[in-house]
Amino acid sequence: MSDARVALVTGASRGIGRAIALELAAAGRDVVVNYRGGADLAAEVVRAIEEMGRRAVAIQADVSKPEEAKRLVAEAVAAMGRIDILVNNAGITRDGLLVRMSDDDFNQVLDTNLRGGFYLIREVARPMMKARWGAIVNITSVVGLMGNAGQANYAAAKAGLIGLTKATAKELAPRNITVNAVAPGYIDTDMTRELGEDRMRDLLAHIPLGRTGQADEVAYAVAFLTSEKARYITGQVVAVDGGMAM
Ligand code: NAP
Repeated sequence: MSDARVALVTGASRGIGRAIALELAAAGRDVVVNYRGGADLAAEVVRAIEEMGRRAVAIQADVSKPEEAKRLVAEAVAAMGRIDILVNNAGITRDGLLVRMSDDDFNQVLDTNLRGGFYLIREVARPMMKARWGAIVNITSVVGLMGNAGQANYAAAKAGLIGLTKATAKELAPRNITVNAVAPGYIDTDMTRELGEDRMRDLLAHIPLGRTGQADEVAYAVAFLTSEKARYITGQVVAVDGGMAM
């Protein structure tokens, strides 16, 4: 068995999660690639990581379900021997105006984006406490800091994730476990690709750096926060947003 630290990245089959999985592998981590439906894409991410000379395994699990989050961590530990790093990245949107938002749309977003993070932190906390080392990063959003019309569910979940980050950071700090959040702005992925030209122009006007971000640029921040160089940083929200939220 390798003595490299092992990272579990949720929603790592595409987009930001995929970039995080690859960047952590480049930083010398072995990686558990979680996905919900995209088995082929997850298998490709595993192949790319193995080509870098690191171990990787793909594990299907829907993080919005507590029993699946539990199974995910159990299978990850069985396959890799340990989990040192958790990145709660899996997320969905179900946008709509408040007055028309269904209970289902609100609950599904809360279940995946907020409760999923809670279930996984709860599962990994015990082994990390025992090891007296852990690094957790929750992928929130500038929307959790600023709000956004049409995203009441998403904003509530992402703001909740920031509270969860700070509470768990305080609770787990005595065991040398850091918990931070990364808040991406507008990043070029499947989640954001469908904006029309007008909305894009309007959006760019609100980004001081004048461009959208790339998934890699979020991954670099996650790699740093989970590295040995960031062991004195906990409970923080790092925005990777071209200056949008300041
Ligand atoms: P994306 O391209 O839509 O990818 C989402 C990933 O999450 C996929 O791998 C998907 O897996 C997985 N996923 C969704 N629901 C899941 C569940 N219940 N259990 C396990 N995996 C699940 O999204 P993205 O843009 O990369 O976003 C990644 C994270 O960054 C999200 O938390 C998002 O809210 C956040 N974020 C994104 C932006 C942005 O501009 N893109 C900005 C701020 C924050 P399958 O395909 O297998 O279902």
